[in-house]
Amino acid sequence: METRFLLSQNDIPKRWYNVQADLPFQLPPVLHPVTLKPVEPDDLAPLFPMEIILQEVSHERYIDIPEPVLEIFRLWRPTPLMRAVRLEKALGTPAKIFYKYEGTSPTGSHKPNTAVAQAYYNKLEGVRRITTETGAGQWGSALSMACNFFDLECKVFMVKVSYEQKPYRRSVMQLFGASVTPSPSEETEAGRAILAKDPNSSGSLGIAISEAAEVALKNEDTKYSLGSVLNHVLMHQTVVGEETLMQLDKAGVEADVVIGCVGGGSNFGGFMMPFLRQVLTEGAKIRFIAVEPMACPSMTKGVYAFDYGDTAKMAPALKMDTLGHDFVPPDIHAGGLRYHGVSPLLAALHRNGYIEAIAYHQVPVFDAAALFTRTEGIIPAPESAHAIKAAIDEALDAKEKGDERVIVFNLSGHGYLDLGAYDAYLAGKLKNYAYPEEKIQESLKKLPQVSIE
Ligand SMILES: *Cc1c(COP(=O)(O)O)cnc(C)c1O
Repeated sequence: METRFLLSQNDIPKRWYNVQADLPFQLPPVLHPVTLKPVEPDDLAPLFPMEIILQEVSHERYIDIPEPVLEIFRLWRPTPLMRAVRLEKALGTPAKIFYKYEGTSPTGSHKPNTAVAQAYYNKLEGVRRITTETGAGQWGSALSMACNFFDLECKVFMVKVSYEQKPYRRSVMQLFGASVTPSPSEETEAGRAILAKDPNSSGSLGIAISEAAEVALKNEDTKYSLGSVLNHVLMHQTVVGEETLMQLDKAGVEADVVIGCVGGGSNFGGFMMPFLRQVLTEGAKIRFIAVEPMACPSMTKGVYAFDYGDTAKMAPALKMDTLGHDFVPPDIHAGGLRYHGVSPLLAALHRNGYIEAIAYHQVPVFDAAALFTRTEGIIPAPESAHAIKAAIDEALDAKEKGDERVIVFNLSGHGYLDLGAYDAYLAGKLKNYAYPEEKIQESLKKLPQVSIE
């Protein structure tokens, strides 16, 4: 039986799909963090290059991928689509399980797909340096690589707890020539303010974003880059879904269920949007499942409201599913899923009934990762393992109901730099942790008061 569906380099998508062209509803505006009025492109210009700002609000259905970006994509794209036959057998399911494997990129996840595009537009507009934040280090690695290819400086604020726990990711970034600072740091006002209150702060993505944004705002030659959440990031990731559609065609099947893990929403968004196009424009029937950790349940337990993108309220406010901008996530092992909000696009699709959201505890997620490793041979990133767990549950449901549904999930990255988490799992040290309801309520009291709906 065929298990590996490959494309040639000529098949790399030449354009991104922009779902904003086909949405049956209006997306809420992006708000200025101080005035809480809708931002104008010029308000965002200190943070992002103009082409990125225009893509953020574009309603063009397709946007051409520039040739220099495609040239770098050829280092690892197209990525394989695999049929998980051995996993199907182990589960005894009549369902067909496919996974798109983005762990074959140079830094091991889907993140370079947008990092390369963003670095390119910054270079084109004469930027000298890019700042960003990173949690687990995947985004920092991807942007460091992209900056290296386009001869840009890269400054990464890395959440302190990860900086200390994941020295290898730091080495990857430094090898690409980036400078890496543990956050909160003494280098920024935002960092100093946090340290004054809590000298032992272990940091959070929200704090690191504040630091990175502050450096960009205060330096003419420096801009800021975000690896998830925003519309343009999800759009850059649609190469993943476009390739998957072509590969499923080769396999002679159509997806019934499309699954991805969700932190800020970029891998799932980029994976699902081309499938959603078939739903919106061709009447296809596909279920979409977003999977998140119980410890950071923005879609399943958060509220749909305007909130700041960062702790110090420097980044624009977005209407999203949020746990509150001062949310400091517990130290779970899926570091990439610990952002307080989720992409406004995914949140709106969720609230309009196009996406289902579910949350899992980390121990069953690691059990699913272990089963996947033993059957398919790949150690998944702990983030991606959330999608595996949901795919397994779907396959078991198909077994119970006796149907042959086609389940497709995105394996967003490999876990070879996350072996510390697997060590803890194997030693029985992982604990399930649901974020307490009272704490969510407390954080949500600090949402901005906005009169726009
Ligand atoms: C960063 C990351 C995620 C989560 O980010 P999204 O923007 O939600 O995709 C998921 N998987 C991997 C491997 C990651 O590195």
